Amino acid sequence: VTAAEVPVVKLNDGTEMPVLALGTWLGMGGKPKGAEIEQAVLWALDAGYTHIDTAFAYKIEDQVGRALGKKFAEGLKREDVYITTKLFNDAHARDAVVPTLRKSLKNLNLDYVDMYLIHWPVGQFANGSYDLTDYLDTWQGMIEAKSLGLTKSIGVSNFNEEQINRLLDHGLEKPAALQVELNLNLQQPALLLYCKKQEIAVMSYTPFGSLFYNKASSDAPPPRIDDPALVSIAYKYNKTVTQINLKYLIDIGAIPLPKSVTKSRIEENINIFDFELSPSDREILKGFDKNFRTVKQTKWLDHPYYPFEKN
Ligand code: NDP
Repeated sequence: VTAAEVPVVKLNDGTEMPVLALGTWLGMGGKPKGAEIEQAVLWALDAGYTHIDTAFAYKIEDQVGRALGKKFAEGLKREDVYITTKLFNDAHARDAVVPTLRKSLKNLNLDYVDMYLIHWPVGQFANGSYDLTDYLDTWQGMIEAKSLGLTKSIGVSNFNEEQINRLLDHGLEKPAALQVELNLNLQQPALLLYCKKQEIAVMSYTPFGSLFYNKASSDAPPPRIDDPALVSIAYKYNKTVTQINLKYLIDIGAIPLPKSVTKSRIEENINIFDFELSPSDREILKGFDKNFRTVKQTKWLDHPYYPFEKN
């Protein structure tokens, strides 16, 4: 397999982010089987991935760190790989941000990450009670982390437009990225437009949405992996349905973070930079947007900073 070249986008802070990343979340309550994330990251770097998306809460940062360590020993340069990680809900106090990022850096065995995100606007102590710290304070801690050089860029995840506006209204540094669920069923056109105007990069989590039968709930709208319209588009470009899905997300301006621990799929998911979807095929893909969320967040509904619609 020849390493694919992943394009980059310029962020509002002058840095550049690769437009595709390997996701590393093993699902709710998921635990790694042995070193499966380390192995996935090694395969990904061999296949040409230049961006890994992880989080303190995934409890596998150490495996990402070991894979990176092996590749650095083989000659990979730190500046040739882009690492995103996230601050979890139990560390929202302003003065908790820097020490928590240092823990992630220790896990990752790095001196800095490229992107540090507030994972959720919602604070919650380890004992389960809500931490009502204003995310404006958390953001101040993020700004401090950046000024110390512990991260090149800072951003937010699972914030809504109003919450981002609130950061901006307070004259605080603008987030360089927003990470949210974005896939064929949840294409987020309004949020994408807003972020384009604000020059905030949009990272798309759960990029396959409900494409796979084993993940789709009974109320999930089409498409599934064997959807005739998708299969026929894939056939036309000699690609797979998953490749068409990922390419489309990049075309609409998102940065997908497909997760896989399977070598062939990791390689498949990056092999998308040698073709262009036609406008009419993009129209068909656009038609799957049903404002349907695959990752239902049913916790924290009564938290004052819960970001999404509550039904
Ligand atoms: P994805 O949409 O990436 O789906 C992952 C699933 O798809 C896995 O079961 C994987 O199987 C399977 N898969 C991957 N590629 C293929 C392929 N080519 N063919 C068939 N099956 C495939 O879901 P995630 O929810 O994991 O989202 C991706 C990433 O986004 C996460 O890993 C995480 O990094 C990030 N994320 C961030 C969140 C946030 O709150 N900020 C929330 C959720 C996710 P297998 O691994 O067995 O190969």
